[in-house]
Order: sequence, then C-alpha cells, then structure tokens
Amino acid sequence: MTTTASTTASAQDSEEIQDAGYVDVLIVGAGVSGIGAAYHLRDQFPDRTFVVLDAQDNRGGTWWTHRYPGVRSDSDLFTYGYRFKPWRGPSIAAGEEILAYLDEVIKDHDLDQYIRYQHRVTAANWSTEDRRWTVEVTRDDTGQQLRYTTGFLWMCQGYYNHAKPYQPQWEGLDRFQGLVVHPQRWPEHLDLTGKRVVVIGSGATAATLIPAIAEEAQHVTMLQRSPTYFYAPPTTHELAVMLGPLDLPDEWMHEIMRRQYMTQYHWLARTSFEAPDDLHAFLMESMRPLLPEGFDIDKHFTPRYRPWQQRIAVVPDGDLFAALREGKASIVTDTIETFTEHGIKVSSGEEIPADIVVTATGFNMSVLGDVAFTVDGEQVDFTERVTWRGIMINGLPNMAYVFGYFRHSWTLRVDLVCDLVGRLLTTMQDKGATMVVPTLRPQDKDMQLRPFSDPENFNAGYVMRSQHILFKQGDREPWTHMHEHEQEREILPEADLDDGTLVYS
Ligand SMILES: Cc1cc2nc3c(=O)[nH]c(=O)nc-3n(C[C@H](O)[C@H](O)[C@H](O)COP(=O)(O)OP(=O)(O)OC[C@H]3O[C@@H](n4cnc5c(N)ncnc54)[C@H](O)[C@@H]3O)c2cc1C
Repeated sequence: MTTTASTTASAQDSEEIQDAGYVDVLIVGAGVSGIGAAYHLRDQFPDRTFVVLDAQDNRGGTWWTHRYPGVRSDSDLFTYGYRFKPWRGPSIAAGEEILAYLDEVIKDHDLDQYIRYQHRVTAANWSTEDRRWTVEVTRDDTGQQLRYTTGFLWMCQGYYNHAKPYQPQWEGLDRFQGLVVHPQRWPEHLDLTGKRVVVIGSGATAATLIPAIAEEAQHVTMLQRSPTYFYAPPTTHELAVMLGPLDLPDEWMHEIMRRQYMTQYHWLARTSFEAPDDLHAFLMESMRPLLPEGFDIDKHFTPRYRPWQQRIAVVPDGDLFAALREGKASIVTDTIETFTEHGIKVSSGEEIPADIVVTATGFNMSVLGDVAFTVDGEQVDFTERVTWRGIMINGLPNMAYVFGYFRHSWTLRVDLVCDLVGRLLTTMQDKGATMVVPTLRPQDKDMQLRPFSDPENFNAGYVMRSQHILFKQGDREPWTHMHEHEQEREILPEADLDDGTLVYS
C-alpha cells in the first residue's frame, strides 16, 4: 500500500489522540445546567450511556469560578434549586451553600461516575453519514488529546468565558502601583485589612462584594459609570418564617416557596413591561429609608433604563445600604479618566485613592463554550444561524443547549429544557430516527431575523458587547428565545415536536 500524506497524518493523529469511546449523550459543562441535564437524563433514560465533560477542575461552573468574599445568589434558592431537590436553607444562599447543594444532587444520584474534570471540549464535528458527533477534547491537566463520539451533544456550557473575564483597558492602568483583581479570579488569601479598596462596577457582584469586605478594609468605594436597580428583600421570606413552626416536609416547603417566588417574580416581570414607571417608583421608594440621610439617590441609584431591562441587583436585608450608612462604603458615579500611581482619577477631577482595585466589570460572553463546530465538514458560522426555542440551532443535528432566564432563576429553565430534550429523545426513539435537525420551513425562509437579545427587552452590557458573534432569533415561534418563565412554563411542555421545523431521519 502506498502511504500518502493524509494517511501518514492520520496515523500520527491516532497515536496522539486517544479514542475515548462512544456515548449516547455527551454533556458539556458541570454547572447547574450540566448537573441538571445529567440528573434528568439518568432519571428518564437509565439505559443510555453518557458523560459530562468540564474544563474546570471541579463542579459548580459559576459557583466554582466565583469565590470572592460574600459571593451569593441573587435569586431565591427555592426557584434557583431544581424542582426535584428541596432547598432547606434561607432564600438567599452563599456560593459555598450552592456548591454543597449541587454536591448533594451529585451524591444522591450517583452522578460523579459520569463527570470528567479538566476536559476542555475544543471541537465538535457532525457526520451525517455516521450519524454522530466526533468531539475533540484537551485535558487541561495532562495536555492529552481525547476523541469522543456521541449520538447527541448537549451543550450546558453557560454563557460566558470562565477563563477570560472582561476587563476594559483604562488609561494609565500600567502605572497604578496597587493591586488589580477581577472577581472571577479572586486570589485565595487576599488580605484587605486596612486597605483602601475601589470596586469598579455597579451590578450584583459589586453589591455583594462591598458589604462583605467593608468590615475588613479601611474603606470601600463603589465606582460606577451609571447606576443599577437594587432591591432589598429579607434573606428569609416572611412566608417561610410563618410556615416555620408548622414543621412541614421539605418537599412541601420547597413547592410552596417556589410558587410564592414564581408569583412574585412573574408580577415583577409583568409590571416592568406594563407599568415601568410604577415599578421604578416602587424600587426607589423601597430603597430610600435604607440610605443615609440626604443621600443623592437620583445621582447614584437612578438607572438610565427601564427596570428589568438589565438584572435588578438584590441586596438581601439591605446589607450594601448598611455599609453606606455606617460610612464604611461610599459611591462615586462618574467616568474613569485615568488610573494614577495611587488611585483613579475621574472626570470631575476627583482622585480616589486605592491600594486595591476590584474590576467587577463583568464577562466576555462565549458562543457555545467557544467550541468550533462543523457539520459534514463545513464550519458553522453561528451569526448566520437561528435559534429553535432557545434550545437548538437550525442546521445543527442532534444538538441542544441550555440557556437560563435573565429575569428569573436560571434553573427554572434548566428543568423545562431538560423535559423538552427528554421528549425529543423519546420522539426520535419512537420514530426510529437517528437524526433530528431544526430546519427552516419554506414559509420561514424570508422571516425577519432579530438579534440574540432584543435590546428593548434585555440589554445588559455583556450581552450587547457580544450580539455580533451570537446566533439570531426569527420573528415567529419556534424561532424565538422567550425570556418569560410565566409563558414558557405553559408553552414548552406543549411544544409540538412534529410541526415541520424539526426534521427527523
Ligand atoms: C456571581 C454570579 C452570581 C449569579 N447569581 C445568579 C442568581 O442568583 N440567579 C440566577 O438565575 N443566575 C445567576 N447567575 C447566572 C449563572 O451563571 C447561572 O445561574 C448558572 O450558574 C449558569 O449555569 P450553567 O451550568 O448553565 O453555566 P456555568 O455556571 O457557566 O457552567 C458552565 C460550565 O461549563 C464549562 N464549560 C464551558 N465551555 C466548556 C468547554 N468548551 N469544554 C468543557 N467545559 C466547558 C465551564 O467550565 C463551566 O464549569 C450568576 C452569575 C454569577 C457570575
């Protein structure tokens, strides 16, 4: 046999790339979404083989990446927790408590055996002939290259790059003599005692971090370009306090509190569209008594957008406001002109002294975990693709992804998407199909394409910065990605999987 260049290359490939075998389903990501997907898959299809691959060295995704002081949920844990696993603590939980909850899910359902850490998925190549994905993986611990094959790829990779946080380049940053820290990469033993800390940012991370470090630091300044909406609910809901003495079973308590929070959040979301001015007034008035006397609420706490057009930052029990009242923290609303040797100069001319600057400036979004996709040898350009219900993508066979809610708990959507994927796998089985592809019908071909996120609906900075690399939505169902749990909890369980937009073969 004549040895050609390509056979030599593939012989070398096979020496270097280890065949990791075939699984029925391959899940990417071991965060809240991937663990949820693994649970539902095992529960509904105990005979199917699967693995969960995660680039990080531990479970939890977001909650493993973000370990800065005070890290906690914004959402209540009754809806942020899965519907199948009761939450037993106060409504708002620390990052560590969320990790412990996820650990229990993993342990209760024996999921550890399926999870492979430090397995970074770099490429996924679909072959129609073979009816499978070939998934290229690099082990971050050993550098070894692995190759899995799978019949169904389930992307639970979250929405941002865990390795590279978003950090704008400010003028003069290189001459600053203090320390610059991003919350996504918090140093394990950072001593803040007696330090002057400036936190750049106005979102949930800044609001969480500031009260947590205010006691230890000499002073903390929140430096924001523009304000965010805040809401200060109690850490434990008054209904949970009332129900406490009844000693209800955990499952009941979980379900009652879930319904309570869903009702509350549905009202909040609806009001943000139907009566934004009323909601704005409500949020402002609920904050006012918690702020120091004479505080300039218009300047520091009045956002330029409608409530819920970006996430409302939750301040449980008003702890951020307490730090402001006690003078341990303060707010500067201005733009950065330049970093100096010893601090930050803002446009008003004021120089804010700093030993440590925390850049709570957010994320770089990633499209499906920055995995390079091909379908039958052709590279997939996601900017030309359209979502199918925010769960699949046109032209990508046997692939689903999980993207949670912006305005509600992410996990509410995880459970709904998992149900739909379960129905999809069953439908394929019933039809004897080995392939399902979301496909634009003739009547969909000229539909108007819309951005991934309509800025009128939701326009957080990290989403707007990344619209140009993301896939699109159409102007009609099922080519839209709905953001309202109140609608989707009715629509997704009923969604017709045989309406002609999913082509089975
Ligand atoms: C500090 C913070 C607080 C938050 N609080 C809330 C809240 O209160 N309520 C709420 O609803 N949402 C909140 N969010 C949003 C949060 O990201 C989601 O709630 C949820 O954790 C996302 O889970 P996930 O599993 O989908 O993704 P992630 O948590 O992002 O996990 C994805 C995992 O996939 C892995 N991965 C990605 N790409 C690859 C690849 N190519 N190969 C292998 N592995 C890969 C990553 O390493 C990661 O471990 C918060 C976010 C942050 C940063």
